[in-house]
Order: sequence, then structure tokens, then C-alpha cells
Amino acid sequence: MDMQALLDDIAEAVAPKLGEGRVADYIPGLGRVDAEQFGIAVAMADGGVYGSGDWRRPFSIQSISKVFSLALVLSSGGVRIWQRVFREPSGTPFNSLVQLEHENGIPRNPFINAGALVVTDQLQTMTGDAGGAVRDFLRRESENPTIGVNQTVADSEAAHGHRNSAMAHMLASYDNLDNPVETVLEHYFSHCAMEMSCQDLALAGRFLSRNGVGASGRQLLTPSQNKRINAVMLTCGTYDAAGEFAYRVGLPGKSGVGGGIIAVVPGRCTICVWSPALSLSGNSLAGVAALDEFTTRTGWSVF
Ligand code: GLN
Repeated sequence: MDMQALLDDIAEAVAPKLGEGRVADYIPGLGRVDAEQFGIAVAMADGGVYGSGDWRRPFSIQSISKVFSLALVLSSGGVRIWQRVFREPSGTPFNSLVQLEHENGIPRNPFINAGALVVTDQLQTMTGDAGGAVRDFLRRESENPTIGVNQTVADSEAAHGHRNSAMAHMLASYDNLDNPVETVLEHYFSHCAMEMSCQDLALAGRFLSRNGVGASGRQLLTPSQNKRINAVMLTCGTYDAAGEFAYRVGLPGKSGVGGGIIAVVPGRCTICVWSPALSLSGNSLAGVAALDEFTTRTGWSVF
């Protein structure tokens, strides 16, 4: 297969869709990007990296960071996380508060905001610097030491973070936070505001397609832990559109409101797509369309 030609073709095929949907502006620092950008990168499990469009342009990774914070907690033996967070799709928006009270402060899964706050809390207890731990992991795995936080985006999210703050206080009221609410929010906003390109993210997530084996050849996660992260991505990685994503793409995936999505073809590759305009459920419209094209043309899916 000519991967480069395939990616160029996909970029061309989704071009008419660019700008459809809406850029997330509930975080004002995110709302200023050009909606018509598009990038796609593929990091093959056995080496090569391919890309097309704006695949080297950094963007705000937002909720994609939740995969890496969960991987770090699990790789350091933090199985206690599964007593603090469930593993079921929520069927509600990523920032919904309603379910959390109904279910006594145990979030539905680690990829909605409430669940990710608990994961960040546990990582903070384990490392003393959850945001820094995620940043260092991303730098190491993508072999790009320049990756860092866009402080304007992090500050903007903090200034407009009333829902996340309400969620964190709700978790604390159920004794499901070990650290102060302010500390957990600061580190959560910091890992969400990390900026990376499609190339960086496809590389950083390559271990997910390699049974947990990272860039240096080190086993970051056991094959069993790795399988489980992919399973939670498939069922919960794109919020209340996870069913539609499984139907159209057929791969474990994780989206962020910056317009990025990573998707994993076990044993073959990790893909990252990016285009800032989102569907109502908060997933990149052109990004999902590109992944749909990719799995339809290659036949690479888990089904
Ligand atoms: N930082 C964003 C938030 O907490 C992440 C949401 C997302 O990407 N879905 O609202």
C-alpha cells in the first residue's frame, strides 16, 4: 500500500467538509483558530511516519491527553483507579454534571471530564506533578522535547472553568479526590492545554498499537493493560457519539475539543487527524470523516 498517496487522497476527499461544524469557543483561548485547517499523520507500529496537510502544525490536544494520564496511572500500578471510576459509556456530554450526583460521585469512565479529574488526582498523588508527568511522557514518546503547555489556553480554561470546577467540588463532596480541588484543576487544565502536531500525537500514541511497547522499546504497559485502554477508548473515547464512531470508523479512538482525534489499529499503526470544527458532540467533523475514509479504504479496523 502507498500510504503517502492514501493520506494525500484522504486530505483531498475531506477538503469540501472543512469548516463545517463549530470551533469550540467555550474556552475563548481555543476559539481563535482557523477552522479550515486539516492534518493527518500515521505512525506505523514498525517504524515509518507519514502525513498530509497541516500534520506538523501544533494544536491544543485537550481531551486526547486523558489517554496519556490514564496510561501513566495504570503503568505505575494504580489499579485503585477502577474503584474510583467506572468503565461504561456515559451517553451524556463530556462535561455533564447530572450523572455524577445520581451515581454518588463515581464518574462513568475516565474519558469524560469528571473521570479525567479523578485520574489527574491520582496521578498527582503518585507523582506530585501530574501535568509535568503527562508532558514528559509526551516528549519522550514523540521524541520532541519542545512539546509544552500553551499557557494562554490553560489560563483561559481556568478563567471559564466553572463546570469543571463544579464537578471537582462534587467529586470532593463524595470523598473522591485526594488533593485540593484547585490543585487537581490546575494540573487537569495544564495537560489539556498541551500543544502538539498530528505527527507528535501519532508517535506519542504509537505504544497503543504495539501492545504497550514505547518508543525506546520499553514495555510501558502490559499487553493486558494496553488492550484495556484501547477497549475504553472504543466504548467511551468519543463521548455520546462513541456508537456512531465505532460504526463509522471501527477503531478505538479519543477525541479532544481542539479538533484532534487519535485512533489505533492494533498491531499496525496509530493515526492522528486534526481539524478544528466540531460536531455537536464535540468531535472533529472532518476528522471523523477522514478516519472513516481511512478504514474504509484500507480495510483496517478491529471488526
Ligand atoms: N479541557 C476541556 C474541558 O475540560 C477538554 C474537553 C474535551 O476535549 N472534550 O472542557
